Amino acid sequence: MTIEITLLGTGSPIPDPNRAGPSTLIRAGGQQLLVDCGRGVLQRLAAAGSSASTLSALLLTHLHSDHIADLGDLLITRWVTTFTPDAPPLPIIGPPGTAEVVEATLRAFGHDIGYRIAHHDDLTAPPPVDVQEHTAGQVWDRDGVRITVAPTDHRPVTPTIGFRIEHSDENGTASVVAAGDTVPCESLDELASGAGALVHTVIRSDLIELLPQQRIRDICDYHSSVAQAAATAQRAGVGILVLTHYVPAIAPGQEEQWRALAAAEFDGPIELGDDLHRVEVTARS
Ligand SMILES: [Zn+2]
Ligand SMILES: [Zn+2]
Repeated sequence: MTIEITLLGTGSPIPDPNRAGPSTLIRAGGQQLLVDCGRGVLQRLAAAGSSASTLSALLLTHLHSDHIADLGDLLITRWVTTFTPDAPPLPIIGPPGTAEVVEATLRAFGHDIGYRIAHHDDLTAPPPVDVQEHTAGQVWDRDGVRITVAPTDHRPVTPTIGFRIEHSDENGTASVVAAGDTVPCESLDELASGAGALVHTVIRSDLIELLPQQRIRDICDYHSSVAQAAATAQRAGVGILVLTHYVPAIAPGQEEQWRALAAAEFDGPIELGDDLHRVEVTARS
C-alpha cells in the first residue's frame, strides 16, 4: 500500500536548463495522476516511464501560466498517441476557469486538430476531455483511490485549490497532499491533516527580498517561504514534507541549506532535489 510521488518539474516561471516547469506525477493503485503541467512536462513524463496517453487524470491547482504552460502539448500528444478506439476522455479537475482555459487551448490548436482529422481515418473528433471545476469536497472515487480538494490562498489568483489523494486497501490508507502555490491557510491545514506526505511549492523569500526588481519581490506576497511550508507541515502533522517549485532554483551544493530552513520548523523527513526525484509514501498506522 503505497503512493509514489515523482517531482517531474521543480522549476518556476524563470526558464532553467535543468528544471522543467511545475508538475508532479502521483502513482496510486495503478492510476497515474498528473498535478499541473508546466514547461517540459511530457519529456519528464517519458523519463519517469509514463506518458500523456497513460494518465488517469490531470489535476490543476490553479491557472498561472507556469502551471499550465504545456497543457496544449499534453492534450494534443495524448490524442495522437492513443490508439484504442473510443478512448475515454481525459478527466481534468481544476478550479473554476479551467473549462474556459481548456476550450481556448483546444481552439488555439484548432488548425492542427483539423489537419489531423482530415489526414487520419481513425481520428474523427477533437481530443476528448471531461473538465470538472471544483473548489471543495470529494471529486474522485475510483478503485480505492479518492481525491478531495480544498481552497488554498494564492490571492489575487483566485480560486486556487489543493488536492488530497488517498489510496486505501485492507492494509490501510496512504495519502499525499499537493498544496500548489499558497500562503499558509486554515483550509490547507485541514486538507493536509495527518497526511502521509505534503508536496508544497516554496520560494526563498530571504533571497528574493534582496532582489532589485519590485516585480520579482512581489512574489513573496502570495507564496509560502520554505519555513512557512514547513510550519504548515508541522501544524498538519504530516509524515513527509516534499518541497518543489524552487524560486530561485537550488544552486548546486545548496540543498542542505534549504533543508535546514525547513528543519527549523518541521520535525519529520524533508525531501527535495532535482527533477525526477521520487518519494514513496506508505500507509500511516
Ligand atoms: Zn501561482
Ligand atoms: Zn507557481
